[in-house]
Amino acid sequence: MKELKNLIIMGPPGAGKGTQSEKIVEELNIPHISTGDMFREAMIQGTELGKMAQQYINEGKLVPDDVTIALVKERLSRPDCANGYLLDGFPRTLYQADALDELLKEINRPVDKVLNIDVDKEALINRISGRRVCPKCGNSYHISYKKPHKDGICDACEGVLIQRKDDTPESLKVRLDAYENQTKPLINYYQSKNLLASIDGLQDIEKVFSDILLVLKGDAR
Ligand code: ADP
Ligand code: AMP
Repeated sequence: MKELKNLIIMGPPGAGKGTQSEKIVEELNIPHISTGDMFREAMIQGTELGKMAQQYINEGKLVPDDVTIALVKERLSRPDCANGYLLDGFPRTLYQADALDELLKEINRPVDKVLNIDVDKEALINRISGRRVCPKCGNSYHISYKKPHKDGICDACEGVLIQRKDDTPESLKVRLDAYENQTKPLINYYQSKNLLASIDGLQDIEKVFSDILLVLKGDAR
């Protein structure tokens, strides 16, 4: 069976995309391309992109398509994507999905699989309110479900963990609406292209990962 290394992971905010992405990229040795992480990095650096994106992100709104697509276009053109990629948090609109198809034709790496992490709303609120992230490396933790070894400190890089500014109840409401209205239609979009694999994201972190590996390694029984 062909190795599946051109990947998208999707799902509502808080579904566990970032958590699973850390594990997938380690397993497959492909770059993790998270538009959310890229915007947060730009915000920390104080670049023009970061300043522009900040107000949208803190309010929970999507950053405009043209800006986001340009960011991904540049990232996908780098040599480390020659062996595959994992897109996390992109595409988030049908317009972005069509633009991505074009970009991937240009680099001759069409999508092999879209992993859709399925989680209900109640669990999302619980996960988002307990999420703590490392601003240095982007790794995410949870105060109950994924505790760091040292309280408040990132296991990977010893950064001091923080709560994201957009993980407030007000922003979360806007983000969930954006997901319902703009991103959820992508499930049908990728289903109709026969690329979608839905995973039960309500299971514990290791079980979700083993289900993902079954899809990617093709040995689901
Ligand atoms: P996303 O990238 O989809 O927004 P994250 O990967 O950051 O979501 O996960 C959101 C929160 O939920 C984090 O605090 C993470 O530790 C926690 N989490 C992720 N997957 C699970 C899971 N399967 N069970 C319980 N908590 C989880
Ligand atoms: P995430 O880390 O994926 O939860 O993204 C955090 C925020 O970054 C989102 O709420 C949006 O404001 C912005 N963002 C990330 N990816 C995209 C995208 N593909 N399109 C538009 N905005 C995005």
